[in-house]
Amino acid sequence: LQSDPAHLSAVEKELENNLRPKEINEFAGQPQIIENLRIFIKAAKIRGEALDHVLFHGPPGLGKTTLSRIVAHEMGVQIKETSGPVIEKPGDLAGLLTNLQPNDVLFIDEIHRLSTVVEEYLYAAMEDYRIDIMIDSGPNARSIQIALNPFTLIGATTRSGLLTAPLLSRFAIKSRLEYYSAQTLEGILKRSAKLLQAPLLPEAAAEIARRSRGTPRIANGLLRRVRDFAMVLNDGTLDLGITQHALKALNVDEHGLDEMDNRILATIIEKFKGGPVGLTTIATAVGEEPGTLEEVYEPFLIQEGFIQRTPRGREVTAKAYEHLGKKPKAGNHP
Ligand code: ADP
Repeated sequence: LQSDPAHLSAVEKELENNLRPKEINEFAGQPQIIENLRIFIKAAKIRGEALDHVLFHGPPGLGKTTLSRIVAHEMGVQIKETSGPVIEKPGDLAGLLTNLQPNDVLFIDEIHRLSTVVEEYLYAAMEDYRIDIMIDSGPNARSIQIALNPFTLIGATTRSGLLTAPLLSRFAIKSRLEYYSAQTLEGILKRSAKLLQAPLLPEAAAEIARRSRGTPRIANGLLRRVRDFAMVLNDGTLDLGITQHALKALNVDEHGLDEMDNRILATIIEKFKGGPVGLTTIATAVGEEPGTLEEVYEPFLIQEGFIQRTPRGREVTAKAYEHLGKKPKAGNHP
């Protein structure tokens, strides 16, 4: 996946951090989430309490990490960042939790990948700000209780469907991040271009925005690549011509679809006559987990009108045929 942070190099991560908005006012889009967070943050500050635990879920690159840091910044507290697979044993979790100052944020990325044991220790920590640790073993085994400072757990996940009910229920605030409109992405690109001191013309910004799969991470990544082309082949100005040239050279899809998106559409058309076909069947055919298909890929394809859900499964639309340069089956598609 183009927008998967695991595929980013250290240099790219550094660049990404430089473009990250730090304050809530700089964060574009997601108006409902921002409006609610402002209220909850203000209320928590008036009471002098930790903010309630927050879960951010949604596809990669939409701003879950960014928002988590903004929350800590606006609360005026420190944030400690870790991720599900890194916390191997309850002791690791205890170490993190006992180092938090009052009202600090603990950010756990990929929270769906926490081990079951660690997750169970997290329940009491979230609920009562305490953690019970077993010391010794055999006949001397006993548990000691450690009181924690009040804290806010912020969990982020692309796969909320994998979270257990008890964990989900302990997040008082759950927000699903949505894909960004081209218009909002344009604004993000203009801000990034200013930070990079890259002269980005409005038509070029619109073109990149339209082809970024509704995702700020992809938009910022394309901006940097187009800038390279503009610097080497041009006077450095990012105009429409150089942008289209660069996007073509980079094989960026007309609608911003990535390789997997196109593979899904082509599979439904070629192997299943355009559908309807079940999610699991598609997943097997493209070699991806059904849950990932459902939570990471499909929402964008549905939103953009390439796929529709029917009672009998998924079906591609005329737009998908057109996009892949194929002829739709007569009379079967909208
Ligand atoms: P996630 O944690 O959801 O995978 P990130 O928070 O790491 O996504 O965001 C990826 C990149 O996109 C960051 O460089 C960030 O600066 C940028 N970004 C994400 N959301 C926004 C936004 N609303 N406004 C501006 N930049 C954003």
